[in-house]
Amino acid sequence: MSVDLVAAWVADAQRIVVLTGAGVSTESGIPDFRGPDGVWTRDPRAERLSNIGYYVADPSIRRASWLRRLEHPAWGAEPNEAHVALADLDRSGRLDLLVTQNIDGLHLAAGMTPDHVVEIHGSIRDSVCLACGDRRPMPETLERVRAGDPDPACLVCGGILKSATVSFGQNLDPALLARSGEAAAGCDLFLAVGTSLTVYPAARLPEIAVDAGARLVIVNAEPTPLDGLAEAVLRGRAGAVLPAITAHLRSQPAR
Ligand code: NAD
Repeated sequence: MSVDLVAAWVADAQRIVVLTGAGVSTESGIPDFRGPDGVWTRDPRAERLSNIGYYVADPSIRRASWLRRLEHPAWGAEPNEAHVALADLDRSGRLDLLVTQNIDGLHLAAGMTPDHVVEIHGSIRDSVCLACGDRRPMPETLERVRAGDPDPACLVCGGILKSATVSFGQNLDPALLARSGEAAAGCDLFLAVGTSLTVYPAARLPEIAVDAGARLVIVNAEPTPLDGLAEAVLRGRAGAVLPAITAHLRSQPAR
């Protein structure tokens, strides 16, 4: 399937919904989990750090998590060509909603309209108390770790702190999930980029869109379980494929 044909579909679309995954940020230097060089592919035990049960029960898992947050590549990362292309799509007026499974904040850093972005798995840029919900900027909490507290407690209630991300075993925000589902059901083109489409319920969104009659386009480096459902599968780097899809939108009037 040619990039030019997909570019024409994008230019003609009225309401586009985009779902992004870790593959959109690998070119910014943030490894994915399940790709060939993914964090979990290289070390399956690392998956434990993303499980809320282990996190709450085991202080050593929390200490390891805080060290990982201190060193997270998101702190030094910049948006790449894929993020920029999606921000161009937003500016063209065709984007209804971008749902990202990423926690790195790079879509917002690329200049997307905040109201057009749903971070369905949360954000590493804030910390949150699991007991009282107190939320504050992550750099503030990381400063306490850097100062020698390996597992900082909530300053308000003493509860367990964590990044404001959704771990396995935690529920997604029902309001964000509902908004994403409604957007998927109402779009005419659904673009899934850099996601293995194996994490539910986010991976259900393309199915909702197709069931409601939308065209599905998948851009990914590797096959996904939903490739058979897509009208076009573009295999390649998001940072190369997306700019090719959106390049000529710049010369068209914004909607
Ligand atoms: P995943 O790790 O399951 O899959 C990423 C997919 O992207 C793979 O299929 C891989 O082949 C593909 N890919 C890698 N680099 C690519 C590139 N340059 N261009 C195109 N495709 C590329 O990711 P997921 O499906 O998003 O789910 C993983 C979960 O892990 C998410 O829930 C997310 O919260 C979290 N996560 C987030 C980040 C981040 O914020 N940047 C990074 C790692 C994991």
